[in-house]
Amino acid sequence: MSLSFDPDQISLPVGHFIGDRLRESSGLLPLRRPSDGSFYADCPIASENIVDEAVQTARKALKTSNWGGVRPRERASVLKRWADLIEREAEMLARIEAASSTRPVGQLVAGDIAVAAEQIRFFAEFADKEGSDLVPTDDEHLGMIMTEPYGVVGAITPWNFPLSMAGWKLGPALAAGNAVVLKPSEMTPFSSILLAQLAVKAGVPAGLINVVLGDGLTTGAAITGHPDIAKVSFTGSTGAGAAIMANIARTGIKPMTLELGGKSPQIVFADADLDQAAAAIAGSILANAGQACVAGSRLIAHIVVAEPIVEAIIAHMQVVRAGPTWDAATTYSPIISEKQRSRIHTIVRAARAKGAECLAGGESMEGQGYFYQPTLLAKVDQSSPAIAEEIFGPVLTVQTFVTEEEALALADHPTYGLAAGLFTRDVSRVMRITRALPAGTVWVNRYGRSRDHILPTGGYKRSGIGKDLGREAYHANRRSKSVLIHIQGLT
Ligand code: NAD
Repeated sequence: MSLSFDPDQISLPVGHFIGDRLRESSGLLPLRRPSDGSFYADCPIASENIVDEAVQTARKALKTSNWGGVRPRERASVLKRWADLIEREAEMLARIEAASSTRPVGQLVAGDIAVAAEQIRFFAEFADKEGSDLVPTDDEHLGMIMTEPYGVVGAITPWNFPLSMAGWKLGPALAAGNAVVLKPSEMTPFSSILLAQLAVKAGVPAGLINVVLGDGLTTGAAITGHPDIAKVSFTGSTGAGAAIMANIARTGIKPMTLELGGKSPQIVFADADLDQAAAAIAGSILANAGQACVAGSRLIAHIVVAEPIVEAIIAHMQVVRAGPTWDAATTYSPIISEKQRSRIHTIVRAARAKGAECLAGGESMEGQGYFYQPTLLAKVDQSSPAIAEEIFGPVLTVQTFVTEEEALALADHPTYGLAAGLFTRDVSRVMRITRALPAGTVWVNRYGRSRDHILPTGGYKRSGIGKDLGREAYHANRRSKSVLIHIQGLT
């Protein structure tokens, strides 16, 4: 059966999900579908009071369910049942998401949703395997490093992969014994509510996941500044990350994980398999139309292979299948909003005004929706706006080098250090360049995450603090207590 559907037939769960019910509120933001620009719903805005209601509900649920104190295996089983239910309801979730976001329905079922379920299972497995440590002391003492959940975690996610991002936050926080107040992006608010409703259906105690909708300045700030939110986990832009740090400093001190922007380089050496490199590089900038934090947006090619690799990438760019996100055949996404599309075009125009040569694309696509052509810009130097800024669109720049030192100097971005790609067959070069690259992730002869969730993700420089995924994300949701017992005092 085809996954294609009519978006007007989809009913959305509008309201905040607190405890086990939808709560209405005022303060509405009008939402338009990226695929055709049509108005489809209003997003409510949770006030400080509503955020407080969600936080108090979470605290109460932690107490009554004793979620942090139950046998860890039980926590794991409930979370795995939730993952199973997500898989069973994948098509329903995909339709809600595809009706309102930039994610095509086919990619959602095979990718985002399948992976979110897998990751929740992955984190559930930590619950009864990672524990406290006995540490060496003298014979008169017993030393322990005990770990405990934080309590209520505040999670804030972006619009580019709404379901995956919610999974990244909810999985480790719940497995580690916390409750969560989650705020999805105001551009794509609804799918996270479905995820939370499925959790309750699977047996996660009501009140452990609360979803409040709204913008950053009202709802987001109320979460990060709330005195009973013990830890903040954020994914979004570097600017919003900085605003969150400032708000946390102003309202109290608490730990935070910040997964922020990127401007990731892809270095291609002359000995690389060019077909493999071109497919990986094109894939990375075309996926979600470049609206991915790890989009490999800067090609840095050895001068002798620059021409053939650019030609091969353009060939991939010419065969994208743009279309509505509710059409199962679509593989190329629209841009999230007219405002974001116009920002992309402004940067492309500014780069061209400073001497960039446009080898492909460079314009909005004709027709309905906010589509932008896959774009390739050459003759850009480090001062070009197309290099300096995270464009968050399908725009790839190409720069050339002769020596390894030149390649590294170009790759080293002054602001971002999220990820990097490296294409070469030379093993010693792989080790040299990998060590030298200032990035939280390096992919060699491939680009993009695999389903090896044990590999954490996070940035150097202003790309962030801390990690999502991997063991690190689980541990970031527990705090440690050092205990020293004088044995003589025991009976
Ligand atoms: P954004 O920063 O505008 O918004 C992200 C979320 O933060 C939204 O829910 C928004 O409402 C909220 N927010 C904004 N200002 C806030 C504030 N002052 N206080 C509290 N919350 C606030 O980002 P976006 O446009 O939704 O997403 C795109 C950005 O996200 C890009 O920069 C991208 O690189 C980044 N991103 C990073 C990762 C990663 O893992 N590093 C993953 C996905 C996206």
